[in-house]
Amino acid sequence: MKTIIIGAGPASLMAATQAIKKGDEVLVFEKMKTAGRKFLVAGDGGFNLSHIGDFDEFVSYYSHSQMADIIRQFTNNDLVLFLKELGIDTFVGSSGKIFPVKEIKPAMVLNTWLTYLKKQGVQFFYHSVLEDFDNDKVIIRLASGQETYVFDKLILGLGAASWSKTGSDAAWVTLFQSKKIEVNPFVPCNAGVNVNLLEEFLHQFQGTVFKNVVVSHNGISRKGEVVLTEYGVEGAPIYYLNPSIRKDFNLPIYIDFKQTHSEDEILTILINSRNVSDGLKKLKLPTAFVFWCKQFLSKEEYNELSLISHLIKQFPIYINSFRPLEEAISCAGGVSWNELNEKLQLKKFPAVFVVGEMVDWEAPTGGYLLQGAFSMGFVACN
Ligand SMILES: Cc1cc2nc3c(=O)[nH]c(=O)nc-3n(C[C@H](O)[C@H](O)[C@H](O)COP(=O)(O)OP(=O)(O)OC[C@H]3O[C@@H](n4cnc5c(N)ncnc54)[C@H](O)[C@@H]3O)c2cc1C
Repeated sequence: MKTIIIGAGPASLMAATQAIKKGDEVLVFEKMKTAGRKFLVAGDGGFNLSHIGDFDEFVSYYSHSQMADIIRQFTNNDLVLFLKELGIDTFVGSSGKIFPVKEIKPAMVLNTWLTYLKKQGVQFFYHSVLEDFDNDKVIIRLASGQETYVFDKLILGLGAASWSKTGSDAAWVTLFQSKKIEVNPFVPCNAGVNVNLLEEFLHQFQGTVFKNVVVSHNGISRKGEVVLTEYGVEGAPIYYLNPSIRKDFNLPIYIDFKQTHSEDEILTILINSRNVSDGLKKLKLPTAFVFWCKQFLSKEEYNELSLISHLIKQFPIYINSFRPLEEAISCAGGVSWNELNEKLQLKKFPAVFVVGEMVDWEAPTGGYLLQGAFSMGFVACN
């Protein structure tokens, strides 16, 4: 059986792994000059390959119920075992994220995997761009000109629409649309937001990290670190809240700067302090928050202890927009599930399978994205 795989991201590499294990002849075509560029970018930011959690909890992080069946077939535990097979030991960080052990760098993970695949017989071709496909032939633009390849099975793992310099530029969408395959528009996911805080304030405090805060939006909340940037806020809790924010931009996000204390306890500390500034100092609040209170509240407001306690627990930030799609860690949108069966096979082209971020699903960062991509690659070639 001849399996052709287009794209050499994590979803495709897992498809290649599974196909070669089954004894297929496997050819991988990638348009960049090397494989797994976004995988390596993910590595720069901490490289969480997956996350712990029992199955029900784990799959609750995915936007689409179809992902549960896919993850079930190749779970976070299966991934750890597979990495071990490659000689890559992992550990679980304090937040539950699964990382390669410290001495194994992201490029080593990728190179070890590629070496393994090549040794098993997978053939890689770079500078090779998908031009067209039907149910048994694919046209690829190589440096030497266009070539047509026949296949028994075609796997497309072409990625989404962010970080285009890694190759994931969603140029394939036009081709899919020409074949009447429904693709839902890509929108930013796991993205920062532009906010309605004064520019001079953001400029002065950009880079400030609010640790151990709880951020909420429309009744959903998440603890973690929030970073002030020149334009707004970034960080895991903001990313987690992206789907909720997308649904209702008019609602502010609220930051709880003192999740260890209730509003009443904070009020008591303020009442028992010499003055507000002394109370804020005792509460060890971030300098940026204290500065904001001093700068942007009137004298009367600043001395109104119930208002200050309330702001400490529920500091509102209004959102203008998401950061551009290009900057997003991942994307929501992509090939509609209406076009696929449970094996990720295109109904209109049954010999063609689509895997990874090019399909319409989303999940928070922290290992869920890569696990989703790995599991899809596995399912398409199992
Ligand atoms: C800054 C950043 C940090 C991240 N951190 C994490 C993290 O910590 N944890 C986590 O789980 N995930 C993280 N991710 C997300 C993760 O990297 C992606 O979810 C994952 O790479 C998606 O894999 P994929 O195989 O679906 O697509 P991609 O990795 O995007 O691969 C698609 C491949 O297809 C190729 N291609 C596209 N079009 C064509 C064509 N026409 N012809 C030939 N080849 C083509 C591309 O060049 C690319 O190599 C991060 C992403 C970013 C940008």
